[in-house]
Order: sequence, then structure tokens, then C-alpha cells
Amino acid sequence: MKSPKEERTFVIIKPDGVRKGLVGEILKRFEQRDMKIVALEMFVATRGEMDSHYPKEDAWIRRLGEKTMATYVKYGYDIKRDFGTGDLVRVGKVVRGWLLDYMSSAPMVKMVVQGVHAVDMVRKIVGPTMPYLAEMGTIRGDFSADSPTNANAERRAVYNLVHASETPEEAKHEIEHWFGKKGAIFKYKRFGIDE
Ligand code: UDP
Ligand code: MG
Repeated sequence: MKSPKEERTFVIIKPDGVRKGLVGEILKRFEQRDMKIVALEMFVATRGEMDSHYPKEDAWIRRLGEKTMATYVKYGYDIKRDFGTGDLVRVGKVVRGWLLDYMSSAPMVKMVVQGVHAVDMVRKIVGPTMPYLAEMGTIRGDFSADSPTNANAERRAVYNLVHASETPEEAKHEIEHWFGKKGAIFKYKRFGIDE
């Protein structure tokens, strides 16, 4: 069995994170929490690559619609006015399309992060999806105030700086997708963590 320190997760600094000059800040927050960067690269994704990165199942697409809907209900916005439908799968499909456009619009930084409970730890450091809800002290809470109310009005995805895998299974799929090449992931010992 692998050491608990070898759990891996996949992270992308999204176009808004790069364009806000937050690459160093974001890396620092993972490293200071004893997470080890074991692969790192700047790249531009094609729309097709982003399409195979994000799940295509209705359940995942509906969840995008539900996340928008929750904010609309909270602030009394009308989902039908913005999307012409209240069907959350149809809303989710529109949002997914904006997401693919956004994630292929400019350079990003992709990485593999390794450490104890890396998947959960990195999600905690990043914060929840909607920056307006994210606590201060999280990356999304400290550097963005975006919300689906204004993102949808501008017909774009919510700008929330970072992508991070949500489960070990998602991490495995994403690491293979983005760092599948042999030799792309490195092994080294961090002082104070590995020795
Ligand atoms: N997203 C959006 N509007 C929504 C829900 C999600 O623009 O109502 C975007 C947002 O950029 C998010 C991405 O879709 O990061 C993927 O959604 P997911 O639910 O997987 O959130 P995450 O795992 O990134 O927190
Ligand atoms: Mg996700």
C-alpha cells in the first residue's frame, strides 16, 4: 500500500489566476501547507481538451445548473430570464459551454500536488466554487468576489482562479489526462516532510 503522503491531486491555475499575477501566491499556499508540487507547467488548452477534462454526465451538468440556481434563489434572480428555461440540465449545458470557452481562452498553469489527504487539503485551501461564498483565508475567498448572478449576465463562467480535483478518482483521471506522458511527474524529498 502507498504511503499516505503519496496521495495526489490535480490543479489548474485558471486564466484569471494567471492574469491577476497570482501564480506565485497560489503555489505558495499549497507549499506552505506541506503540499509538494511534483509536476508543473504553463500551457494553453484547446476547447476539445477541456471538453474531455470536465465530465459529460447529466448528473454533473445538472450540478452546475444547481449551483447557479442556489445563488438565484438566494438573491431573488429569475433563472428563466437569463437562460430562457428553468431546466437545470439545460442551464448546466450552457454554463459548461462558457466554461470550455473560458478555460481555453488564455494560458493556464497545471500541476500535480502531493501530500497527506492532498485532494481534500487542496480543496480546503482553494475554497468552495463560488468566490462570493468562499471564506477569507481561502484562495477563492481572498482574491475574487465573483458570482453566477453577474457571470451569467455577462454570458461567461464564474471566474474562481483555480481548478482542483474533488475526489481521488477525479484526480486520477485528470492526472492521466494532463500528465500522462512518462517522466512528467517527479520524485524528490522535501526537507521537514520526507526526511
Ligand atoms: N461554474 C460556473 N457557474 C456555475 C457553476 C460552476 O461558471 O453555476 C464553473 C466554475 O468556474 C467552476 C466550474 O464551472 O469552477 C466547475 O464547476 P464545479 O461544480 O466542478 O466546481 P469546482 O469543482 O471548480 O469548485
Ligand atoms: Mg469540480
